[in-house]
Amino acid sequence: MKAMFYERFGEAPEVIEVPDPSPPPAGVVLRITATGLCRSDWHGWMGHDPDIGLPHVPGHEFAGVVEAVGPEVKRFKVGDRVTVPFVSGCGHCFECKSGNSQVCEEQFQPGFTHWGSYAEFMALDYADHNLVKLPDAIDDATAASLGCRFATSFRAVVDQGRLKGGEWLAVHGCGGVGLSAIMIGKALGANVVAVDISEEKLALARSLGASVAINSTRETDVAVAVRDATGGGVHVSIDALGHPSTCCNSIVNLRRRGRHVQVGLMLADHATPQLPMDRVIAHELEIYGSHGMQSWRYDAMLAMIGAGTLKPQQLIGRHISLTEAVPALMAMDRFAESGITIIDRFE
Ligand SMILES: [Zn+2]
Ligand SMILES: [Zn+2]
Repeated sequence: MKAMFYERFGEAPEVIEVPDPSPPPAGVVLRITATGLCRSDWHGWMGHDPDIGLPHVPGHEFAGVVEAVGPEVKRFKVGDRVTVPFVSGCGHCFECKSGNSQVCEEQFQPGFTHWGSYAEFMALDYADHNLVKLPDAIDDATAASLGCRFATSFRAVVDQGRLKGGEWLAVHGCGGVGLSAIMIGKALGANVVAVDISEEKLALARSLGASVAINSTRETDVAVAVRDATGGGVHVSIDALGHPSTCCNSIVNLRRRGRHVQVGLMLADHATPQLPMDRVIAHELEIYGSHGMQSWRYDAMLAMIGAGTLKPQQLIGRHISLTEAVPALMAMDRFAESGITIIDRFE
């Protein structure tokens, strides 16, 4: 099969022929039909992710068709159109058995712990637990675009934040995760406040449903600005960026008994921010983490997409080939693509 392959971190990947995968006993081989380009793939290629062994094939946001099944697979057959959460579960630990494979104790991630989807074919283990059947109404590129950003936002807003119609939602950071959260919040009937440093992103946030847009570079106190704009603070707030200051603003702009959801990763020096726990106690605030989304919750999201309530396809940018994806991947730190780039030609 053709695959985007690298033997050393930071050196230009090549599109070459590598051996076709075969299915594990409880797994499948998928023929990849569309796969998203994500900054996490750039970090992986640069050597920032300790899960990646060399040589490697990246890619973790995808749609595909089941090409071969292992003998233990019961729920899927050759020809099924599917996608997979970016955190896959083992299916047998306590978390997987209780429906929470997004925090599986033995989780694995195609494109990181295993070879990924920048290839014609990809093997995936524990298929019965991890595959999600795609309805006909959802095309391959849209399914691939759900990958990590949109599905992660769905869980953060709907399941962790428990956002309801008529409530206020604040979204700090209007990149892929933030814009998805704004669209999902609006679809639930909430009022959304978008916060970012870029006027361009704030304009995009407005077009996707934010009713208030706050440029944080123009405010002396972002949390006060959000509380003023919302009559006392928001019910749910999300740090979609992952920075001590956005995290703190997201907690302090809550109204009493509000819910903060941390989605943006806090890495290195940012991993242990100082948080206003005095306020968390006095106002009975709730603080959640959110990490991907389990496969069985995709049905609720896919139903909203099928009904047209959610339109993640609005976040898709360019469609490119596997060969064109090489320079696109290498340039991800220098050029902010507008929208999610989809690879759907494997040449
Ligand atoms: Zn991703
Ligand atoms: Zn597990």
